[in-house]
Order: sequence, then structure tokens, then C-alpha cells
Amino acid sequence: MSAHKANRHLMAEMTSPEFAAHIEAGAVVFIPTGTTEQHGPHLPLGVDFQLPQAMALEVARAVDGIVTPPIPFGYKSMPRSGGGPFFAGTIGLDGATFSHVIRDLIRELVRHGARKICVIDGNYENLWFLNEGVDLAYRELKDSGLKVMVLQHWEFLTDRTLAQVFPDGFPGIELEHAAVLETSLMMHYYPDLVHTDKLPDNPAAESGPYDVWPPHRHWVPDSGALISAKGATADKGRLIAEQVGADITAAIRNEFEV
Ligand code: ZN
Repeated sequence: MSAHKANRHLMAEMTSPEFAAHIEAGAVVFIPTGTTEQHGPHLPLGVDFQLPQAMALEVARAVDGIVTPPIPFGYKSMPRSGGGPFFAGTIGLDGATFSHVIRDLIRELVRHGARKICVIDGNYENLWFLNEGVDLAYRELKDSGLKVMVLQHWEFLTDRTLAQVFPDGFPGIELEHAAVLETSLMMHYYPDLVHTDKLPDNPAAESGPYDVWPPHRHWVPDSGALISAKGATADKGRLIAEQVGADITAAIRNEFEV
């Protein structure tokens, strides 16, 4: 194993004076969020925060920003979008707990001088609880000049990229759990974490247009992937990463004038 080299954009690898100087210079602070949940037999449990962390780091390099440690737990996996609570290793926080983690983290970053914050999320179910946490912080801190962006990385996918990644048509983001998008991105960013001999190839999950408690186990394919992951490639992952990364960077520059 080679010796570790400190990354000058990772908060966890900066000293306190380095962090302070970076914030003083007006750096955008990126918070990668996601959750820990099953992603089929071929992907690790950390996909939903590992991808935002990798993307945040690329954008931070482009705009000389700071990436906080990722928030590795988020809102609960739902059967229709993440396979639900049925699989080993899927961890879900109550919505209010997750919102309060985000609120408190923003409050602390602002206390240290941050005014430009961007949350990059990778767990579909997180969105409204993230927005709630940001809104609670903003309500309290808006006189400080705070500005916060919240984004889920797949929202940046263009029709052109989707047409290249899904030549037979995009099945929709809800079904893209542990499927072609996430698998391709993992092959690009973390190739050693993908079990390419175990790519699931099941048909699309069939569920009703509603949620129900107790949740239906039969709405979720046994693989844990909501649709086939065959067709995922590292080249597609690079294509997605480059297009989405460039467009997130452009949005950051536009909103924060960096
Ligand atoms: Zn995921």
C-alpha cells in the first residue's frame, strides 16, 4: 500500500488553520449526502454517499472548494425506489433526525464563516428531508448572507447523455436503483468495489402507484435491483461523470460567483 497523500479539498484532511484560510477566501463548502443501503449483489452499501463524495471532490477541485465528510445515513429506503427495508445493511433515519443533522451541520459551518454551501445528494428518498434541514437553518441564519444549494446529481443528466446511456429508452429514475446509472458511475469512480460477475438482470419491478404499510416484499425483485443493471459500463460512467460534473460546476459558478 502506498503512502497516503493529503487532499487539499477534503475538510477531514485539512488542519484547522488550513480550513479557516480556505473559508476566509470564500470557498464553497460541499456536503455529500446519501445513505447506507443495499444496492444488489454487485454494488457496495455505500453507493449513495460514495458517488456524491466523488462528484463533490471533482467539482471542488474545479472551484477550489471544500468537501466535508459525507453524511452516510439518510432517510429510509422505500420499496418503490430503493428496495425498502427488506435487505441486510439497509439503514434508515427518521426524517426529522436526518433534517436536524443537516440543520446542525449548516449551523456549525456558518459559525465558522462559511456562507456558500452546496449539498450534493445521492439518495432519492432524502430530498424533502434535506430541504427541510436547509430551510430550518436558513430561517435562523438568513441575515448572515448564507446561500445554500441542494441538488441530486441525476437531475443534471441531459437528454443527450440519457440517450447514449439508455439506447432502448430511460426507464425513469425511481427504477434506477442499483441499475445502469449507479453501476456505471461506480465502475468509473470505484472499479474495485463493483462485482461485475454479479450484475443483476431482472425485469423492472412491478408495484402499485402508491406506498403501503406494511410494505409489500413482492414489489421488490429478489436481487434488490429494481431493473436490470446489464448494459452498465465504465465508459458510460465516465460519460455521465464528465457531463454531470461539468454542469454542476457551471451551476455552482453561476449561483456562487466563483
Ligand atoms: Zn443508490
